[in-house]
Amino acid sequence: MNDDSSTVSQIGLLKQKLQATKTALEEINEDRNSKLMALSQFITQMSLACKGHNLELDNKLAKLRVNIGNFEHLDEVLPELPEIERLLKSQYHIITTKLEQGRTGLTNFSRELLRVNNLPEKLSREISIFRQELSKPFHSIWEYIPRVEQLIGYYEQVLLKRQHGETLEILPIHRQLSQELAQLISDIEFPKSQREQVLRLKERLSSETLQVEELLGAYQTILRLLLENIAREKSASQEFLQTLNDALTSVRDIVSESFSQTQQSQKLKQQLNLEINSQVDNVLGSIDEIDELLQLKQKITEHMSALQNSLARKEALEQREVALLQKSVNTLRKELAELSAETLSYKERLFEQQKINQLDSLTQLPNRAALDERMEQEFRRIQHNESALWIAIADIDHFKSINDSFGHSTGDKTLQVIAMALKNSLRDTEFVARYGGEEFVLLIPDVSTKDITQLLNRVREKIKNIPFKFKNQRITVTLSIGAAQVLNGEHILDTFERADAALYKAKHESRDRVIID
Ligand code: GH3
Ligand code: MG
Ligand code: MG
Repeated sequence: MNDDSSTVSQIGLLKQKLQATKTALEEINEDRNSKLMALSQFITQMSLACKGHNLELDNKLAKLRVNIGNFEHLDEVLPELPEIERLLKSQYHIITTKLEQGRTGLTNFSRELLRVNNLPEKLSREISIFRQELSKPFHSIWEYIPRVEQLIGYYEQVLLKRQHGETLEILPIHRQLSQELAQLISDIEFPKSQREQVLRLKERLSSETLQVEELLGAYQTILRLLLENIAREKSASQEFLQTLNDALTSVRDIVSESFSQTQQSQKLKQQLNLEINSQVDNVLGSIDEIDELLQLKQKITEHMSALQNSLARKEALEQREVALLQKSVNTLRKELAELSAETLSYKERLFEQQKINQLDSLTQLPNRAALDERMEQEFRRIQHNESALWIAIADIDHFKSINDSFGHSTGDKTLQVIAMALKNSLRDTEFVARYGGEEFVLLIPDVSTKDITQLLNRVREKIKNIPFKFKNQRITVTLSIGAAQVLNGEHILDTFERADAALYKAKHESRDRVIID
């Protein structure tokens, strides 16, 4: 009995324990399910955050979201996980690369911004700090976006500053370009109507206050003026050709008309000649046939009057012919006179143009093209008469410093004065051209080796003694000269090279001197 009751109580205890275990298990299950649920919700949220980067990943994650919500399908999720993990990893790699590229882009852009001239100090400091912060890599896109916003802000400030009248700073390269353009303009001959404008432009180009926009404007203006001139020259040539064409057409018309008229007259004359011949025959016939004097006289009078008539017609015809011919000749003469007047004026313009093309417009000295021509002429001449010919190259010493200290237009005036002085110091048979910027070439014939040094030193001294005064400052401008004589059998271009080498020597021997090769 005792045994029975203890067995019953043991069973009861076990039942209770079983119940408690079951409850505990149920609780564990519930707890695990709720955790799993939270985890799956978390994964769902996470997967949604990754959406939009990669289509394949998006599809896989969408499938994952569906299956993970339903525990029964959890087994289907597991094999997909490694692939999703791989895609996520590669996506991570892509994003970090892109972030790094973005960071480099921001670094470069901010460096360019810092290079903008005349940045306010505060802005420039802010950008520098910004750049320092950029030296660390970004971990997420959220770090990138505010940086971009910040940089856009800086850029906006720079743009605002520009819009409020800030201009681009003029750099040494702009100054050089403007000098070159001014030089180029000096070498071109513009028509009178444009000269004033070109002169003003040239002054601006040499001005200290020149701005980049003005330089660009100057290029545009010069280009426009040149195009206008080309168009004008073209239409003048076309007009001339048109006149020539018209004149030739009317000459052709006149000639062909008078030719056809001559042919017609020729026919008429032949006819009249036949008539006259037959009339003469008739007279002769009558003389043979008629014995009666009175009758003969009558007949002959008839024939003679017919003959007279034909002769009068022939004469009229001939007179008309002469008149027509005269008219044609007059018209032709007139056409010819007009044409030659036109040709003459065209020739004069061409000559003028040629002359202009051979003159340097700043100094009015022959230019390089004229020098080439003259060198050829002189070279040909000395081949025939075997006389002496010297080439001297003169270069102004430290001319750049005149431009730098007193401005480009003072430099221009100096060049003009020196050019005039050089020209005046030479004889008519001697020749001087502006070879380039501040270089002149002299061709001196018929001077002995003994005399050339003296002659060139006289030229050098003359320039040195010009009393230049810039900004109330007395300035001495000197020349270095290198010279060489064309040797027997030597080509003049080789002589030129020797003179140039001598000039180089003169420059190196402290300038203001003449060196003869
Ligand atoms: P060096 O004694 O060695 O010849 O010195 P430099 O300064 O005379 O020679 P460089 O070749 O260094 O400079 C020549 C200068 O001449 C530079 C250029 O601006 C100036 N120049 C050239 N053509 C013109 C011009 O038509 N007008 C003006 N004003 N300057 C010119
Ligand atoms: Mg020079
Ligand atoms: Mg010089």
